[in-house]
Amino acid sequence: MRLKADYHTHTVHSHGMGSVKDNAEAAIAKGLESVGITDHSVSHFFYGVKNKRFGYYMSCIDDAKKAYADRIDIKSGIELNLTGFDGSFDMPEGYQFDTVILGYHKGAVYKDITSAWRFFTGHRRVNEVTKAYILAIQTGLIDIVSHPGYGVPVDYRMLAMACADYGTLFEVNEKHADLSAENIHEAASAGAKFVISSDAHHPEDVGEAPHAIALALKAGLTGSQIVNITED
Ligand SMILES: [Zn+2]
Ligand SMILES: [Zn+2]
Repeated sequence: MRLKADYHTHTVHSHGMGSVKDNAEAAIAKGLESVGITDHSVSHFFYGVKNKRFGYYMSCIDDAKKAYADRIDIKSGIELNLTGFDGSFDMPEGYQFDTVILGYHKGAVYKDITSAWRFFTGHRRVNEVTKAYILAIQTGLIDIVSHPGYGVPVDYRMLAMACADYGTLFEVNEKHADLSAENIHEAASAGAKFVISSDAHHPEDVGEAPHAIALALKAGLTGSQIVNITED
């Protein structure tokens, strides 16, 4: 089993080490058919693409799409931050994305002081955190929910049910090992489909997810439940 597509990678536009083209070159070298460029969205205080640089970020992806069109399918993307307990997130306005990821990250600028406090104490608010994720998914704008369980706890079964209802993929992330095989099995039982991501911050890590693949297999997932793996 290996990835045939890696929909979650970062570049120098947030806090990755390579350019969009570096990630594309790495993905081609690994034999991927598609790679997503999904830098952190604007409200992340430390890593987010700056608002005034966002147009430039998108133009770099567009340039790479054209330059590599005959070699790999590059997806323009974003990794949004969950910023409020009402399901708020930081979608930049005026842009079209091929791949929209949503995740919880410490260091995001939250919607208001109440949300900031609740996320800060999120370890004892599993139902409220889960509801926030579900409200975000119910917008129909989220393609992938990244690293569930990272930073704040969620009810995997409830989250997976919302993913199944709205066609959002439940991510098994190589970089953040918060899920157990049991958690994944529970999410699968609720009907979710899965994506395995490198969450690469270095070009050499693009397309690499050996631990996440092993975990998914341990959980009993089959190829038909994971959108981006191949057995060749
Ligand atoms: Zn993330
Ligand atoms: Zn990421």
